[in-house]
Amino acid sequence: MQILQIGRLSNDVNQHLERQYSACALWQQTQSGEFLQQSGADFELVVTSAAYGLNAAQIAALPNLRAVCSFGVGYDSIDVQALQQRGIALSNTPDVLTDCVADVAMGMLIDVSRGISAGDRYVRAGLWGSKQRFGMGSRVSGKKLGILGLGRIGLAIAERAQGFKMHIAYHNRHRVSALDYAYADTLQDLAAWADYLLVACPGGAATEHLVDAAVLQALGEHGFLINIARGSVVDEAALVQALAQNHIAGAALDVFEHEPNIPAALLQDERVVLTPHIGSATRETRMDMDALLLQNVAAFINKGQLLTPVS
Ligand code: NAP
Repeated sequence: MQILQIGRLSNDVNQHLERQYSACALWQQTQSGEFLQQSGADFELVVTSAAYGLNAAQIAALPNLRAVCSFGVGYDSIDVQALQQRGIALSNTPDVLTDCVADVAMGMLIDVSRGISAGDRYVRAGLWGSKQRFGMGSRVSGKKLGILGLGRIGLAIAERAQGFKMHIAYHNRHRVSALDYAYADTLQDLAAWADYLLVACPGGAATEHLVDAAVLQALGEHGFLINIARGSVVDEAALVQALAQNHIAGAALDVFEHEPNIPAALLQDERVVLTPHIGSATRETRMDMDALLLQNVAAFINKGQLLTPVS
């Protein structure tokens, strides 16, 4: 079975795909569009990632494609509808990254509330001991955490937040009956209740700009927004406005609408914590994600079935 690899992954994965399967590296082709038009029919399996994705034009240029194995849990960059129409299977790498993303979410929540990275900047700037006092933070323990998207990562965040004696509520499209956490019928209700609104749902068209000006207004002047999901879920222009007008107290963002570009207003705002999409970026988790990606490739080649298919 011929494999096409869309973009460069870790050295281990690149070497494994090349040595074990003689995979073809699309990113090494100087004219990737022309290459796909000429040789697309050779490939039955594609390896990609949440960052590289796979669009409708690429899928159309692969007439014999049977499966796509993607690195990462989000698949909003992959045209799932185009795959479904042709019965092409898709796998991602769920679960193995859940703990690390939840750890980062809690770290960012505490940071934006207590000013850890702002305090670091203050100390390094030599301001400690000067007339310019470092401002007061906002207590985390015992506060109300509203989670948009109580799935694998959302649940792991809720478990951690319980250790901080936080009250937890969530909004999904469907109530999870097996859970005791309070369910909010609308995102606006959740935001109005919460001290912290934490975004942990998938990206893509269905969730685009779910967090808009009205939701931010509902979150309120003492409320914080934390987004570790996808930049597309938050209306970034509305967020900039909400901060400018003090409609919310601050934001912690690991993901952005146009990564790696970030609006200047966010870069300059001391009430905003910014990280470069590092949710799953630990050595251990990335090795686990590599392993799960390769297990999916092997399972499809050897048994014709993916190990962790996206349903
Ligand atoms: P998951 O288990 O599928 O959970 C997603 C949750 O979102 C589900 O509870 C789902 O419930 C809810 N949801 C889906 N669509 C919704 C909508 N339109 N409105 C409200 N809720 C909705 O996924 P996961 O493994 O927790 O991952 C979540 C996301 O985190 C990924 O898709 C990815 O984009 C992001 N992520 C980011 C990083 C990072 O580095 N920052 C790393 C990994 C993942 P219902 O189906 O009932 O709506």
